[in-house]
Amino acid sequence: MNPRARVLLLNAALGPLDYRVEPGQPVEPGSIVLAPLGPRLLAGVVWEPDAMPSDAEVGDNRLRPLNHVYDLPPLGAPLRRLIEWTAAYYMAPPAAVLRMALASASALDGARSVVEYRTTGAVPPRLTPQRAQALERIAGRQGLVRELATAADVSDGVIRGLVKAGAIEPVEVRIDDAFPSPDPAHAPPALSPEQAAAAARLAAAVEAHAAAPILLDGVTGSGKTEVYFEAVAAAIRSGRQTLVLLPEIALTEPFLKRFADRFGCAPVAWHSDLRQSQRRRAWRAIASGEARVTVGARSALFLPYRDLGLVVVDEAHEASFKQEDGVHYHARDVAVMRGQFEGCPVILASATPAIETRQQVALGRYAEVKLPARFGGATLPTIDAVDLTRDRPDRGRWLAPTLVAALDETIGRGEQALLFLNRRGYAPLTLCRHCGHRFKCPNCTAWMVEHRLTARLACHHCGHVMPPPRACVECGEEGSLVPCGPGVERIADEVAAHFPDARTAIVTSDTLWSPAKAAEFVNRMDAREIDVVIGTQLVTKGYHFPNLTLVGVVDADLGLSGGDLRAAERSFQQIAQVAGRAGRGAKPGRVLVQTHEPDAPVIQALISGDAESFYAAETEARREANAPPFGRFAGIIVSSEDLDEAVATARAIGRAAPSVEGAEVYGPAPAPLAQLRGRHRQRLLVHARRALDVQAVIRAWLAPLTFPKSVRVAVDVDPYNFL
Ligand code: ADP
Ligand code: ZN
Repeated sequence: MNPRARVLLLNAALGPLDYRVEPGQPVEPGSIVLAPLGPRLLAGVVWEPDAMPSDAEVGDNRLRPLNHVYDLPPLGAPLRRLIEWTAAYYMAPPAAVLRMALASASALDGARSVVEYRTTGAVPPRLTPQRAQALERIAGRQGLVRELATAADVSDGVIRGLVKAGAIEPVEVRIDDAFPSPDPAHAPPALSPEQAAAAARLAAAVEAHAAAPILLDGVTGSGKTEVYFEAVAAAIRSGRQTLVLLPEIALTEPFLKRFADRFGCAPVAWHSDLRQSQRRRAWRAIASGEARVTVGARSALFLPYRDLGLVVVDEAHEASFKQEDGVHYHARDVAVMRGQFEGCPVILASATPAIETRQQVALGRYAEVKLPARFGGATLPTIDAVDLTRDRPDRGRWLAPTLVAALDETIGRGEQALLFLNRRGYAPLTLCRHCGHRFKCPNCTAWMVEHRLTARLACHHCGHVMPPPRACVECGEEGSLVPCGPGVERIADEVAAHFPDARTAIVTSDTLWSPAKAAEFVNRMDAREIDVVIGTQLVTKGYHFPNLTLVGVVDADLGLSGGDLRAAERSFQQIAQVAGRAGRGAKPGRVLVQTHEPDAPVIQALISGDAESFYAAETEARREANAPPFGRFAGIIVSSEDLDEAVATARAIGRAAPSVEGAEVYGPAPAPLAQLRGRHRQRLLVHARRALDVQAVIRAWLAPLTFPKSVRVAVDVDPYNFL
């Protein structure tokens, strides 16, 4: 046995290091180990030395011994290759990617039980306001002291005090309880002939045990979920694991329920809202192979599945699959790579596939399975534009008379309506009528957004909040502040003014912040306790409400400003998705799109239902501009708390720019959010032809440069936000 092991430690600042393997230590590539680093012990993974070169090799006699080899299945070769690929492609430290695979530190230890806490219902003799707040917020919850303290927004001490007072009790939780096995024969649906044909193709791909990216392109309500469930059933039958990625954790709860209806039990869930004990249990079941089906947010992509047979990316066009901090990866693209390395199909399901994905189909790299019609004879909704230049809302209002009349009819018939506006809060901007002062975030280039429900102004970028001021901070005038423009809360007020008896619900990340809240919303919709939903992009995807027949798009022009290369595509997708919520049951749906530009190509494509020619025109425009998927971009973002330092560093990087055939460098210029969380941001943008190894160019460019300690330089390959 090789007495030496190369180990990638969980420390992004370090390269791989070598250790001595003691006799009897069962070490192979992928083994999860504990190794000494200075006075500490760090977890890491043993790697093939040639795949992970080290520039700090030391002689055999100076090697420190490995401390411990965990009794866990080694990370498989496909996952090791994925980690290498992700690190190289997105220009991130391999250890930062590895951290996403070893995402539960406590899971590495052997089986044991943990003590969690929950309320007993007893009221403590001394009920301070903090204690009352804690008891109210954690009612029905369970978790570690720290988790409960966070949920209740109090200190650990308050929770411990409540334990002493008998209002909270410890519970022993066994974390290695087995998960139930989904049963592929539990309740299979009767598929339509088109659905059955599509399902058969997907199942065949699973049975072929080979890499195969497949676009499942089906209109909203066509039954994409039912169809890919048959591929999941095939994977379960063949004894392999499945991963389903969803774009929002708010969607997991309804998905779990639907999955349980089909397969008899819930799948294993993975998202940021899990308690530590749940993460640990899920991680171990995934690594052992016991977790047959895992559903999760993008971070589930790097978990160490023992034998992956299928990956599904649902709503694959969603921009939220792009991670915007840490490792800047795109989960849709990394999912396809994982399928390549694992040798399994990857299904990208969408009613509005991204141009990048369509292009892969056109090139013959991805297969395509289509579902052109809604299930069960339901028809697609009719879409009409409301021309705001003629059909004008009243002063200080945002809903045009036509839309108000349609709402009236819908509510009158006992049906449900949805108003879509992608703006949280009450008003996006507050200004002083007297001096014109606009309330801006002190840390970011952004307006403070008024939230009336929580009575404060908030920055949507850094989270800075302040109480709504009574007087202008600039001129001191009282009662002079005016809200400008609408957010969903303001639209809800307008609905209430028109229809005092209507029951409304605001659906945003502020109100649906946990899977449980999302489930509650779904239940209230199903029970018809809501007449009008006012929501942001959170309501545009996934939901199925049969009694929802009217969708109003409050401001279709909103997404078109901003100069993002994907602006038109994203508007189209967003409006098509929200329109897809209408008329999914027996009753036909109607969509009204408010716009100042009814003739814009996006609006025309939506009204005519001619998505193909819209996509064709957009694709052509991208080809001409050599924009993705034909060319590629990479951003270099330089940030510092000191403006001069950020500018000087960005200029120095700009001066060192190589001249490379097929690549152009723009900037530096202030990034679109020139200040974010107190840091000044400058951006250089590299525009390259597709075939160029742009990562190699950037690596060679930045490697010889040194930067001041306080400056951060981050590379964003295939940027989405242009922020
Ligand atoms: P999509 O994801 O394409 O928008 P869904 O999979 O959500 O569509 O299906 C829309 C609705 O139609 C869901 O309520 C689903 O249960 C139902 N449905 C689709 N196909 C069938 C089927 N073959 N049998 C019964 N119900 C179906
Ligand atoms: Zn801010």
